[in-house]
Amino acid sequence: MQIMKFDATFLRSKVARRIFLLFIVCALLPITALAIISFIQVTEQINEQSQRRLRQASKAVAMSIYERLMFLDADMKMVASNLYTGSGAPFNLPPEGLTEELKQRFKTLAPIGEAGKSVPFLGRIEDPPEPTPAEKRHMSSGKAVVSVQQRQDLPLGIIMSRALDPQHPERGILLGEINPTYLWGLGDQDTLPPLTELCVLDRSYKVLICSLPGATSFAAQIGLHVSESSSGRFEWSHQDKEYLGSYWSLPLKFNFFVPQWTVVLFESKADILAPMVHFKRIFPLVIILFLGLVLLLSLRQIRRILVPLEKLQEGTRRIAVRDFVSRVAVSSGDEFEELANSFNIMADRLDRQFNTLATMADIDRAILSVLDTEKIVRTVLNRMRDVLLCDAIAVTVIDSDDRGRAYISEEGRRSEIALERVALTPRDIEKLHENRQSLFISPNQSVPDYLAPLAWRGSSSFLNLPIFFNESLRAIISLGYVDPPLLNEETLLHARQIADQVAIGISNAQLYQQIGQQAVDLERANKVKDEFLGVMSHELRTPLTVIEGYTGMILDGGYGEVNQEQARALEHVMSRTNDLVVLVSSILEATRIATGAVRVVSEEIDLRHFLEELKLGYNLPLKKEIAIVWDYPADLPVLKTDGGKLKQILDNLISNAIKFTDKGNVTVSARHFPWGMEFKVSDTGIGIPAETLPLIFEKFRQVDSSNVRPYEGVGLGLYIVEKFTDLLRGKIEVKSEPGKGSTFSVTIPKS
Ligand code: ADP
Repeated sequence: MQIMKFDATFLRSKVARRIFLLFIVCALLPITALAIISFIQVTEQINEQSQRRLRQASKAVAMSIYERLMFLDADMKMVASNLYTGSGAPFNLPPEGLTEELKQRFKTLAPIGEAGKSVPFLGRIEDPPEPTPAEKRHMSSGKAVVSVQQRQDLPLGIIMSRALDPQHPERGILLGEINPTYLWGLGDQDTLPPLTELCVLDRSYKVLICSLPGATSFAAQIGLHVSESSSGRFEWSHQDKEYLGSYWSLPLKFNFFVPQWTVVLFESKADILAPMVHFKRIFPLVIILFLGLVLLLSLRQIRRILVPLEKLQEGTRRIAVRDFVSRVAVSSGDEFEELANSFNIMADRLDRQFNTLATMADIDRAILSVLDTEKIVRTVLNRMRDVLLCDAIAVTVIDSDDRGRAYISEEGRRSEIALERVALTPRDIEKLHENRQSLFISPNQSVPDYLAPLAWRGSSSFLNLPIFFNESLRAIISLGYVDPPLLNEETLLHARQIADQVAIGISNAQLYQQIGQQAVDLERANKVKDEFLGVMSHELRTPLTVIEGYTGMILDGGYGEVNQEQARALEHVMSRTNDLVVLVSSILEATRIATGAVRVVSEEIDLRHFLEELKLGYNLPLKKEIAIVWDYPADLPVLKTDGGKLKQILDNLISNAIKFTDKGNVTVSARHFPWGMEFKVSDTGIGIPAETLPLIFEKFRQVDSSNVRPYEGVGLGLYIVEKFTDLLRGKIEVKSEPGKGSTFSVTIPKS
């Protein structure tokens, strides 16, 4: 079942396909090549041997035909000598007739007398042929003549004739038609090699005999293949059948006065190659058998390779999802098993490394997320042993040059953290400076005092990791070992990494503490400053108002007449006092804003009336060539807002515009929109550089803050404007171009 399942899927793997192909190529190619080569060679061999055999056979058959002719001749000679008793005497026919042997050899046998009188004693010779003079001459030499007689509707007759008396051939001839079965060795006396066919042709390739049916055309064609030489071979096809043929020429002229006969033997190629046909049939079966075998073997092999491969693949997949615990189990006893073992070792190492990394990351996170030295120390004590094996850990936080607090945690008592005071000598600190990475103290070295808490808990070797901050020793992480440890590069690296993180954590914590302290200090200082400014302003404003009042009274002549010079001086005092009152008021206002004491008091304001009143405040003549242009429509709505603050906003903007414009216009405009009101104060003054635009709203910020600046002020006007606009839920925008002027726009929502 498993193999079946495997079958369906195994060719999806590239390796499997490759191995499978390799198997097929290795197994089938040589078999096929061998089979084809041997097939061709065996076919050739069989052909060759058959040719040779046929040649031998054709020779043997020819010889046996010749032999039989000789036997027939001897028979005739014997019969002739018995028959012939003398010239003119009657033939001496044997009373007991002819022997059985003669009857088999001859179809007919008859002596023909002088006057052509024939006395047949075996069969009847129809129309006996008349010997030609040449034949007669041949017979007169005592030899027989063989001739072929063509007869209508009858097979060819082979006639052998011999003179009864060779000295006088005219006296009579013995004439016999040879039994073809005997002559050609067919029938009962078949002497032909098995599966061979025999044909005998005369000189003109006329068929004398042919054992194949359809002989005439067949034999005529054979004639074309038979060359002039006395023997030879040929290939021939007849009625879709291939034949191998071999011929042997029989010279008969000398003995039988008949031109040579050619004995042809042939055998069908199909018969010759019958074993090959068998081979051909068997071959595909063998191939299929091998293919099956190859398939089976390759499957087995592929499985042996693929199963471990798949397991390894699965293992890597598990590693990718950080599963380092599961192991790859391969027991193939080969390199795959070795690979799986190495893989498992690697997974083990990775497991350890990832654990270390994770623990270190935890320690990092814990260290960096708390800003309290003690908590950092506790985290290190709790988690460090997960990464670094040791018997006890001490984290010593250095308090002063020679004193420190050692936090100690022992193996087996993790939750308990002991705190002890330790002393450090300058030599200890110097040694730690010299070994900034790590300082190992072995059992045969003297133990410094700061390690005493670990030493009396049983440790005899120590690995110290000093932590420096700004070149001064801040802490020491000390790992204590009862037995000398085996410390490798990796352990030392991890230990140092943790120590560095602790260094960052502790320095962060210390910085945080410093910053916190500074913030508290700053806040306190600010509060003191605000209180001071508030008190001072308040305390200053009363006497200033008094000065202003009395000066006014003196000016008005309340204390006697004042001359012109005195009046000018008093006016100067008035003006300066007024400036001081404005300044003090601004400071007071700003202080109130900073302390959150300013509240919004909303009321319904008739804007037109509001603006008319504002305008009145600027009716006084100015010392500069400035025209104040008021631009607002007659039908302004009633706005619900804090009128006092809105007035302060516009006053500050208008007085700035006047202050920073020497010549030209200051335009105050108001527009009504569905969402609220827009107030604009624009001037043709000195303008503000683009880089300082974002800063002008800050407290005490001035574009030119030098002592020689030609403009008065402390830099609180726009600070108050911005804060008040915020309080009114409005927005302020400024556009300015140095040398051309500035435009401040304040928008206040309807409600
Ligand atoms: P000050 O008391 O100096 O006027 P402000 O807060 O009112 O303080 O303004 C801050 C600074 O912004 C000014 O010192 C001045 O440099 C710049 N500034 C304000 N308004 C104008 C203006 N209309 N044209 C040019 N500069 C201005």
